[in-house]
Amino acid sequence: MAIVVLKDKCKGCKLCVKACPFEAIDMDGKLAVINEKCTSCKQCVATCKFDAIEDTDAGKEEEVVDLTAYKHVWVYAEQRAGKLMNVALELIGEGRRLAREISDETKVYAVLVGDKVDQLASECFAYGADGVYLLENDLLKIYNTDGYTKVLTDSIRQYKPEIVIFGATYIGRDLAPRVAARLNTGLTADCTRLDVKVSSYIDYANKNTTLDTSDLDPNSTETGLKQTRPAFGGNLMATIICPRTRPQMSTVRPGVMTKIDRIEGATGEIINAPVELAASDIHVEIVDVVKSAKEIVSLSDAEIICSGGRGLGDPSGFDLIREFAAKVGGVVGSSRAAVDAGWIDHSHQVGQTGTTVKPKIYFACGISGAIQHLAGMQTSDIIVAINKDPDAPIFEVADFGIVGDLYKVIPEIIAEWDKAEELYSESLHHTA
Ligand SMILES: Cc1cc2nc3c(=O)[nH]c(=O)nc-3n(C[C@H](O)[C@H](O)[C@H](O)COP(=O)(O)OP(=O)(O)OC[C@H]3O[C@@H](n4cnc5c(N)ncnc54)[C@H](O)[C@@H]3O)c2cc1C
Repeated sequence: MAIVVLKDKCKGCKLCVKACPFEAIDMDGKLAVINEKCTSCKQCVATCKFDAIEDTDAGKEEEVVDLTAYKHVWVYAEQRAGKLMNVALELIGEGRRLAREISDETKVYAVLVGDKVDQLASECFAYGADGVYLLENDLLKIYNTDGYTKVLTDSIRQYKPEIVIFGATYIGRDLAPRVAARLNTGLTADCTRLDVKVSSYIDYANKNTTLDTSDLDPNSTETGLKQTRPAFGGNLMATIICPRTRPQMSTVRPGVMTKIDRIEGATGEIINAPVELAASDIHVEIVDVVKSAKEIVSLSDAEIICSGGRGLGDPSGFDLIREFAAKVGGVVGSSRAAVDAGWIDHSHQVGQTGTTVKPKIYFACGISGAIQHLAGMQTSDIIVAINKDPDAPIFEVADFGIVGDLYKVIPEIIAEWDKAEELYSESLHHTA
């Protein structure tokens, strides 16, 4: 789409400048000039009283995509240094569920991109993939945006999957929008729920009273992807569809979907997809890969998380949280308030704008339970909340709630833990 100003008609009245929500119109003397911030929203076209602004694409027919040509579900099986990311396995399970709901013939394929990554295929099969596409080339050894975007886009054009899902990792968030833009299709970022059947979406929606299902026919056989994600600061759940283009693409945060139980000995189809890639396709040279200390915080894979919030009072409160985490074998998390206060690095943040986690036990210490924090941890298996305010919303999601001062409660838990460890080692001693 292109928005243009007709020089002979523009009177320099600046109405369009005021109307533009994106500050995309500058004045050059008495002439309005569209700048690079323009999103083609056409607000200016509607506002101009002199018909001096035109959408040059108006009236052009939209390309009609043959939706029936697209089949199967693809999951981008993200690997780093030859190791599959946990989120890839979670999404293979989710992709399998969606594929089975679409039809008996629909399959879920894991897409492995890299150099000599074929040994990861068995892991993909074990977690539910019916097949694996291998996109291998030595130029893909380390993730690079240009190379990965090109080969993935080429393969999607060739094989035409109906749905493509990525983990919302740094790499997934870099790659998915570029691929979607090249394919001229939509992408919904940070989904927390995916559905293909209207009926299962309604079941889910009925449990989330903010979702309106009144227009939906529960008997509908339509199987477009319903992509649900938090919107407006988490106060609303928005369900987004992609009705006219294919594939339907989403990113999903790590820890939101659940892996299926490992199927030992599972096998499937392996497709070696043709990869056409030259060094000249890649515009960035990777000189060195430096692992930052931040990566040590692996919240999304942690089984126990001890999180601290503003209730700690000051940054030294995290010394107690670290001691607590070390004692129980956990990882340190935090609320955004503690991060914003500069008490701890953002890599520890749990929640809507941090990491989504699903540990076996989540300790929330001095955290009130704001909706944005809950969005990142409420699917934890067991939630233990320690808060001195008995009315704190965190208690509404907690399985165990301790009302009290965390500076008294946590040392008591640590002391009890020490006693239990002592008893355990004594019992081992007696048994021996
Ligand atoms: C767009 C958007 C995105 C956001 N994303 C996130 C996100 O990803 N993650 C996130 O966490 N937040 C996020 N927030 C911020 C969120 O709304 C809250 O402001 C934040 O979670 C509050 O952090 P908190 O619970 O630590 O602090 P508070 O809400 O101030 O709660 C502190 C709690 O500590 C308790 N307390 C105080 N002293 C003690 C004590 N000695 N012992 C025990 N308890 C005590 C208090 O009773 C209180 O309940 C986001 C907000 C917006 C608008």
